[in-house]
Amino acid sequence: MVEYKKVVHKVSEAGGGVEIAINEFVYSTGKEGKKIYIQSGLHGGETSQWVLYKLHDFLMNNLQCGEVHIVPYANPLAWMQRTYYATNGKFSFVDGKDFNRCFVDNYSGDINSLVCAKIMELATKNDFVLDLHTSKMSDVFAIFTQKKYISYIKTLGLKYNQYSDDASIPSLFGTFNAALDRAKIDNLTIECGGHDEYCENKICQVFDGICNLLSGFSMITEKNTGEKQQIIFAKRNKIYANCSGLMKLEVETGKKVKKGEVIAKIDLSNNLSESLNVLSPIDGILLVANPSHIIWQGDVVAEIVPLDNL
Ligand SMILES: [Zn+2]
Repeated sequence: MVEYKKVVHKVSEAGGGVEIAINEFVYSTGKEGKKIYIQSGLHGGETSQWVLYKLHDFLMNNLQCGEVHIVPYANPLAWMQRTYYATNGKFSFVDGKDFNRCFVDNYSGDINSLVCAKIMELATKNDFVLDLHTSKMSDVFAIFTQKKYISYIKTLGLKYNQYSDDASIPSLFGTFNAALDRAKIDNLTIECGGHDEYCENKICQVFDGICNLLSGFSMITEKNTGEKQQIIFAKRNKIYANCSGLMKLEVETGKKVKKGEVIAKIDLSNNLSESLNVLSPIDGILLVANPSHIIWQGDVVAEIVPLDNL
């Protein structure tokens, strides 16, 4: 029998006295086992929660031991930053900082610190942490920050997996993964697809991956969904636009591209009679693309994983 409960953690108070709180959902079995923390919504507008609704029913029927702690909307500040129908929750409107660069260990008491400190307090009570995000317009891929996490990547079983040695990159010191690594909590990140996207296939890929992990932790009886071909890489080459205009992507994310192949067409802003082809400079896999049709010169058109980096 799985017990499900909601715990509300007060974080701060907004102007006008509105309480800012983080909701945590706990699935407990009363039997000895691993404690797993699954978080999404550290950035506002990243709709990786679809998979958590699916996971809810699964956990209620299949969790055998241990506990699963789910925080679907980890950063309420980021979800409150809405303009018209767009939730702009990557950077704080207060100080311009990326919400996933504020985990700096000595939390000063400013508004971002209050959220980060509470998230770290919740996450570090567990044996393993999974952080769900979305990336522009993207295929599903996992990110791991330490080579020793490769066993989790194999268990997770996703096709695309990026190794990012965050500890060696000073600008990534303040990421949630880097803070968890310093706190000695094993962790993975999954980019679950594109911003504000609903895609059944991507939801199922992430759901299956989480089930594989839970199976790997002996928390469910379900078998791993089997050996899959996995691709592991360390870099994504950004392709920048050298003009402004309206862009149509010509290649779906997750597809292979050849050097010289047209990946996008841009109808130029300053000339109605002209459009420009954006070519892939390398052989690779187009994993992430700009989610907007509106392109400025200098914007990222797409991010391509070089074939020689696999
Ligand atoms: Zn994110």
